[in-house]
Amino acid sequence: MLRDIIIIGSGLSGLSAALAFSHYLTPLIPDLRITIFELHPVPSTSGGALSLSPVALRHFDHLGILDELEEYGPESGVDVDAVEIFSSRTGKQISYLDFSGKHGLGYGDAETGRRYKARRVMRINLSLAMIAATEKRGNIKMVFGKKFLKAEQLEDEDRIEVHFQDGSQATGHLLLGCDGVWSATRRKFIDPGRDAKYTGFSLVQGTVKTASLKVKPHFRNSSMNLSKNGSLLITFHEKQHQEIFTSAMVECREESVKDHTELDKWKRDLINESLRKEISSRFKDSVIPFVREVATSPEVDWMMYPIYQVPLGGKWYTQRAILLGDAAHAMLPRDESAAFAIDDTILLARIISNHIDYPLETSFQVYDSLRRADIAHAFKDSAKLWQRRNTDAGPIETWFRERLIPFQIKHEMKFKSAEQFEGLRFEQSFVVVFA
Ligand SMILES: Cc1cc2nc3c(=O)[nH]c(=O)nc-3n(C[C@H](O)[C@H](O)[C@H](O)COP(=O)(O)OP(=O)(O)OC[C@H]3O[C@@H](n4cnc5c(N)ncnc54)[C@H](O)[C@@H]3O)c2cc1C
Repeated sequence: MLRDIIIIGSGLSGLSAALAFSHYLTPLIPDLRITIFELHPVPSTSGGALSLSPVALRHFDHLGILDELEEYGPESGVDVDAVEIFSSRTGKQISYLDFSGKHGLGYGDAETGRRYKARRVMRINLSLAMIAATEKRGNIKMVFGKKFLKAEQLEDEDRIEVHFQDGSQATGHLLLGCDGVWSATRRKFIDPGRDAKYTGFSLVQGTVKTASLKVKPHFRNSSMNLSKNGSLLITFHEKQHQEIFTSAMVECREESVKDHTELDKWKRDLINESLRKEISSRFKDSVIPFVREVATSPEVDWMMYPIYQVPLGGKWYTQRAILLGDAAHAMLPRDESAAFAIDDTILLARIISNHIDYPLETSFQVYDSLRRADIAHAFKDSAKLWQRRNTDAGPIETWFRERLIPFQIKHEMKFKSAEQFEGLRFEQSFVVVFA
């Protein structure tokens, strides 16, 4: 029996799981009830601007999130035709990551005929749009301020009981662990002992008002600026181009970044000042005036996010509980990480809807067999990408790296357009399994 679904966490995967399960299962289970339990008392405003791939946007459209996002007007994010890639050494454009497709209209969805480019949007706006979409569903409830502590499979029953820090409990037929990289669902219930590990990288990011900068941008919407000391992303994140989002991945030791966000304000201010110096030292010699100005501007409010990952492998599910998104496979961020979290939820919801008369574990097995290889591929690819981009290089190596970029992009785009953007891989999985 499947009627009550419990979701732990209201990040991208928790919210999209609620929408996907409501979308695919309500026609089969009219009295379906989905409850999301979130640790924070209100939606979190943390995080910068996310890059959403055409694949993620297509999913969002199917789930009704894109319509909600459009309600935000200019704050619904900026469409990205291409991320332009520049050499900070020569100032020249080396290559670009194209999201506009052959005819400049974006990538198409064979089912609906709609087309999508990429988009850069602030994470908080996306979360609020997703929450608005859940409110329209009628069978999704959100409960804030509930910290998941532990769960147990009730003996001789088809239910799981979850326990929260405030002493309350809830029971459900299916538990979805969408509680991110530090997932208590993973560590306390599904796969105890599989802890997150620091990657050696932290993301330094900030925003700055365009009007506070004297120099004009050298790109249309989004740029990646390579130097011998790493790369600086500089991008707009709203339609009116009034604010810029910028970020750089830096290598640093875990001791220096641990508990960074929990420090006193004066200590955080000191760290932020050192982040400013770090970014300035890496990019102040760029021959591109706009890169120099952003990297050295006192107006940027720099923040640091240490990046942790969940080692590959491990267990993803038990009899009635399964991990999704970062809880299962947090990795170094790449443009599609959010799309991976969303893919997880849609894939699982569709598999369960196609196996509605089977035990949940059968669906979990099918899901696991379809998902493992893709996740392992993405995980290894992300690690290679940052290793390649970020290790400090001398002048000769920098020269070679710049020349290799167009080939690497071509390879990546071939993979993306053939297997992801046209939806082939995702749909094919279903053809193979369910035809
Ligand atoms: C610095 C950084 C930059 C990134 N940039 C990009 C990008 O540009 N593009 C992209 O596609 N992806 C990016 N990613 C990756 C992307 O953000 C993640 O893959 C995605 O957010 C995963 O979503 P999630 O819902 O699985 O986890 P999360 O977003 O972490 O959500 C987990 C939720 O669970 C809640 N929670 C945690 N513990 C409990 C508990 N015990 N009880 C109840 N609730 C709990 C949390 O409060 C949170 O709301 C980035 C990641 C990082 C770290």
